[in-house]
Amino acid sequence: MKKHCCDYMNYHANFTCDIHSDPFDCPDNLILFDKTNKEYGLIIHDGGSSIIGISFCPWCGKKLCFNLSMKGDPLHFWNGGWGLIFRYLAMLSGLGIALLNLFDPIHQGITRWLMVICGLFIFSSHLKFILDKKSKTTDNQKQTY
Ligand SMILES: [Zn+2]
Ligand SMILES: [Zn+2]
Repeated sequence: MKKHCCDYMNYHANFTCDIHSDPFDCPDNLILFDKTNKEYGLIIHDGGSSIIGISFCPWCGKKLCFNLSMKGDPLHFWNGGWGLIFRYLAMLSGLGIALLNLFDPIHQGITRWLMVICGLFIFSSHLKFILDKKSKTTDNQKQTY
């Protein structure tokens, strides 16, 4: 039995059901661990075999081992284009919150400034992530060519 980041992940990644042989059939099975690629996926119980790849543990927040060389795999869905679009949206909404409270305050006094700081914080943390990601992509390209 492989050791995972925490007890919750240990339980879910090693979960086997006596009734359902296929993990997609079992409503109790949440996490699919791909031993070959060391990747984690959230099982979407929509009757099919959908998986959303996760790069962080939903219970303890630890970064999960993620093999970025496997592009196009459904497990990389979240870490790929859509994840970045989400980051952009989150960044913009953070900026929006900050600007809205700065120029058109719904809240008054200290709450208003807390919202502004909060918004700016969201904005900068997502911006940092996107810039990190961009520079990493550039590094990868340099290595490839
Ligand atoms: Zn964990
Ligand atoms: Zn079951």
